Amino acid sequence: MIILEKKGRLIILSGPSGVGKGTIREQLFNNKELNLAYSISMTTRKPRVNEVNGVDYFFVSEKEFLRSIDNDELIEWAEFVGNYYGTPKYYVEELLKKGKNVVLEIEVQGATQVIASCKDVLSIFIVPPSMEELERRIRSRQTETEAVIKTRLAKAASEIDTADNYDYVVENTNVANAVLEISKIIKENTN
Ligand code: 5GP
Repeated sequence: MIILEKKGRLIILSGPSGVGKGTIREQLFNNKELNLAYSISMTTRKPRVNEVNGVDYFFVSEKEFLRSIDNDELIEWAEFVGNYYGTPKYYVEELLKKGKNVVLEIEVQGATQVIASCKDVLSIFIVPPSMEELERRIRSRQTETEAVIKTRLAKAASEIDTADNYDYVVENTNVANAVLEISKIIKENTN
């Protein structure tokens, strides 16, 4: 008897900084039916007050990050507003083998790399209802300096222009609705 191994699917959640990717992702994970696992990224950014190493990110030095690039240990990586961010390969491959649908919550340069190099990826782009609302959300986090907020907002407009590269575009006007819409997309596109 042949037992076919059930392999999980790689899922990209992308969109501009402040659009609500993190909140949406957390709520998607409450739905156990979706069989999701989160890919913990590596970053050189300093942890925010509530962030935990190995849970939110692997916080590393620039030297460690550059070593991971040299050793070909990352699926994708990008420099975003002065820091490096990347997806460790090993962990994602292990989770996919276990049959998990693995969520990469990443910015657009990294998402573009994965879409180009990985045929079977399911890509979802989240857009804000307006630029004014995006600015309000970034400011309400109160985690970044004014200079960083301005750079993230300036980047957002060009990031939104890449929406056509994705399989699905979801507007986050209301988190509960966006979560429902994305849950449906995932259910329809995974085993
Ligand atoms: P933050 O500093 O707000 O945590 O993240 C900044 C941006 O980097 C967000 O858009 C976030 O989704 C993205 N990001 C987080 N991890 C990764 C990663 O591994 N690769 C890439 N390309 N972007 C990431």
